[in-house]
Amino acid sequence: MNQADSDIITTLLGNGGYRQASSEEEAGIILLNTCAVRENAVERIAHYLQHLKGVKKRYPDLLVGLSGCIPQYRRETLFDDFPLLDFLAGPDTYRALPSLIAEAASGCRRVSRLDFDTSETYVGVEPSRSATLSAFVPVMRGCNNMCAFCVVPFTRGRERSHPTEAVLNEVRALSESGCREITLLGQNVNSYRDPAAGTDFSRLLDAVSREVPGIRIRFTTSHPKDMSCSLAETMAARPNICNHIHLPVQSGSTRMLGRMNRGHTIEEYRDRIGMIRNMIPGISFSTDLIAGFCGETEDDHRKTLELMRDIRFDSAFMFYYSVRPGTPAARTMHDDVSEDVKKRRLQEIIDLQNSISSELFGEAVGTVVEVLAETESRRSSLQLMGRTETNRVVVFDRGRHSPGDLVRVKITGSSSATLRGEALPDY
Ligand code: SF4
Repeated sequence: MNQADSDIITTLLGNGGYRQASSEEEAGIILLNTCAVRENAVERIAHYLQHLKGVKKRYPDLLVGLSGCIPQYRRETLFDDFPLLDFLAGPDTYRALPSLIAEAASGCRRVSRLDFDTSETYVGVEPSRSATLSAFVPVMRGCNNMCAFCVVPFTRGRERSHPTEAVLNEVRALSESGCREITLLGQNVNSYRDPAAGTDFSRLLDAVSREVPGIRIRFTTSHPKDMSCSLAETMAARPNICNHIHLPVQSGSTRMLGRMNRGHTIEEYRDRIGMIRNMIPGISFSTDLIAGFCGETEDDHRKTLELMRDIRFDSAFMFYYSVRPGTPAARTMHDDVSEDVKKRRLQEIIDLQNSISSELFGEAVGTVVEVLAETESRRSSLQLMGRTETNRVVVFDRGRHSPGDLVRVKITGSSSATLRGEALPDY
């Protein structure tokens, strides 16, 4: 989502007469577009700002700004914590960036625009995308849920969706420009509702896949409680919609899901996975997992490991819980799992996921898969890197193929994160 936002910001600044610099030294303005979802992301920005202090000493006219979720989330303290900052913009106020920069350049330091605007979707702003083969297309912004651990409702505000027609126009233009894969994006993408007609995400997905039948379609991130039967039907019916779903579960314990305010039980999650697997054989799932959320017992943790063994996710984003100030958990719960226990549980989750991924990838050896080639491999120009429609990374001997080709690849080896193979000549 932040990458997609950065592409929108680049366009808005370009329209305002600014152009991208090639280095820190050349830049007159440095703008960091930020994420606040984990403490680690906030720490990285703090380190980079520390580095920019030195740059600003050398170039006193340099303007430094933050945009995105951190300014929205830490608006009260940022200017005091980081006196080098000149301007701040939130996720709904990127359009104000050219005027904020102009104000800051005229000597009026510490300027900000951080209001929520529930009508802002940036529809009509064509993102400046750097990649040509694959593209993110935001279809909704914000989140109406209130998961106890999450800052998103406080940084991005309430849900709002793009009109279906605007999404179709955007994917059509991408298709005409040579794009081969589109990922529809939203914080809670499957709660999409067309603002006028009220049509849901399965209808949008169906319409997009028909509009650009030669392009692979993906989407992220889905919420389990909005994972409908009609969405699975659409995926099963349309050949260009990739058979992969990122479906965050966070914990394998219904008790913890209740404390997290996730809005579903673990039985409901298992049922949805079962329903989708029945309809789409061979589909892959990835997930998000949090170790050591407030009140988590060894029994809750054991249930998470049990769920992982049963579902066999292809991959997972795995973290241990850290308090995000201002969230429901920070206000009403005690962060009572010690750091040692959180780290140990997280390590057990990571070890299990690595062994499941290794098994699943090992089972793929000997099969033939269709891969969309994305780039040359980092190790050798004689190899290409691409993904299967189930989102598995494949590195293969390229033969006569180039990035952008759909290639049939025979899988000859695997690790826990990558498949290796060779292009078959007859494709
Ligand atoms: S669904 Fe929950 S975790 Fe996801 S963005 Fe919304 S509040 Fe955060």
